Amino acid sequence: MIIQRVVLNSRPGKNGVPVAENFRLEQSTIPDTVQEGQVRVRTLYLSVDPYMRCRMNEDTGSDYLLPWQLSEAADGGGIGVVEESKHNNFAKGDFVTSFKWPWQTVAVLDGSLLQKLVPQLVDGHLSFFLGPAGLTGLTALLGIKEKGHVSAGANQTMVVSGAAGACGSLAGQIGRLEGCTRVVGIAGTDEKCSILVSEMGFDAAINYKKGNVAEQLRELCPGGVDVYFDNVGGDISDAVINQMNQNSHIILCGQISQYNKDVPYPPPLPPEVEKVQKERNITRERFLVLNYMDKHEASVIQLCQWIREGKLKVGTFTFNPWALITFAAFQSMMNGGNIGKQIVSVSK
Ligand code: NDP
Repeated sequence: MIIQRVVLNSRPGKNGVPVAENFRLEQSTIPDTVQEGQVRVRTLYLSVDPYMRCRMNEDTGSDYLLPWQLSEAADGGGIGVVEESKHNNFAKGDFVTSFKWPWQTVAVLDGSLLQKLVPQLVDGHLSFFLGPAGLTGLTALLGIKEKGHVSAGANQTMVVSGAAGACGSLAGQIGRLEGCTRVVGIAGTDEKCSILVSEMGFDAAINYKKGNVAEQLRELCPGGVDVYFDNVGGDISDAVINQMNQNSHIILCGQISQYNKDVPYPPPLPPEVEKVQKERNITRERFLVLNYMDKHEASVIQLCQWIREGKLKVGTFTFNPWALITFAAFQSMMNGGNIGKQIVSVSK
């Protein structure tokens, strides 16, 4: 059977910004028949995520991420429909997902890599399982629960960087649902900041590309910052940490501003910021959503309930047609083109 796939064509280098030529769209073939234990799936949606930048390097710098191989299909989160199954758990027509979905139109996968989806949980919006009802939502919810120390009635102020992105836009809303009294976002355009306030329930938002972040933070968080959901690292995080209260908490979710640089993860703080962190006893523990697999099922049910009840706004989903090549979506997401979760729609 003839299929289309996106393969890694070249590596950008550890300190390089990815370019379109790093990927190649090509025709390929897969077997016409499936073997015992296998399932043939047609791809519906693919997820593009910041961690994929690390997979473009020969060495990802991380023990849980494998590098993509040159001339092999890239892979990541995906959703599809079963076309043929020789695995007991799946039948033709089932909707399924996997973290190891190849960037190709049709694939034969080992059934053990797949999980069945229940579309009713998200009122049929299947792509939500790659965003607010999937790893993205889990990252926001479990990050806050495991590392945020949010407590209803404690009058806490939360700041979220990367606030208009997939995790960030949910983190602010969940922080509020869990009990924070003030939520302030930091994002890269005026449009994003306006949506955060008008649609996502943030109290205020700062465009970090305009004006002085530290000054605006001082004004918008007069009682200091108690919880910081950090998606970006770098200068933005340094400014936030400087305004954090004694015994406050950083949820170290990601450091996207550092992903095109050859630095260890998590990147060390500048000495003067580290001094503040230590003196004020601010926790900054690494958070990895995959370390909480035992809590995923119950958390997905919670997220789906909030979405159905309208308590969690899922924002705009950006869909790019497959023909425009999945990389364009990845590059756009890395450069701030998305509001909410960036998804690639491969087929109807
Ligand atoms: P997003 O949807 O947030 O997309 C990335 C966003 O990052 C862009 O839209 C852009 O928005 C912003 N950005 C890009 N470069 C910079 C920069 N130099 N400085 C500030 N902002 C920048 O992606 P996700 O929600 O999927 O991921 C958010 C973070 O969460 C990432 O760091 C990711 O690695 C991490 N993550 C961590 C997980 C974990 O288990 N710990 C799991 C999943 C994600 P803008 O216009 O605002 O610049």
